[in-house]
Amino acid sequence: MKNPICPKCDAMHVVKSGVIGERQRYHCKQCGYYFTVNKVGKSIDSYYVTKALQLYIEGISYREIERILGVSHVSVMNWVRKYNIKPPVQAVYHPTYKVMNQAELVEYIKNGGNLKGAGMLITELGDKYMMIKWKRFKE
Ligand SMILES: [Zn+2]
Repeated sequence: MKNPICPKCDAMHVVKSGVIGERQRYHCKQCGYYFTVNKVGKSIDSYYVTKALQLYIEGISYREIERILGVSHVSVMNWVRKYNIKPPVQAVYHPTYKVMNQAELVEYIKNGGNLKGAGMLITELGDKYMMIKWKRFKE
């Protein structure tokens, strides 16, 4: 299996550096960063690619995606280019997002008022959930 790229500097020059728990540890030869990925390295990569592209298509900026997912905005830009993603022009609404644990999410949804007048999408994000919400119409 191919080694992953460094999440910090995007270098390909990454070597295996032991296993911690169930996770393979890697060391970036370029910036010295240590990081781990699940042994099923391919699927965790595509997990983040999918999440990043979902966020991008919802109109969230590269920098925000970096902050939410912890993947470099350069990686996200590369994926957008690689998959040739073009988000539709969003002139009438803008997305907001909230990251919540399950209990917070349940509380949020209990309040029907929070569900009205907006489109929303809930997506799993690591051990939490992210809700992307946007106003459909100009007020
Ligand atoms: Zn690096």
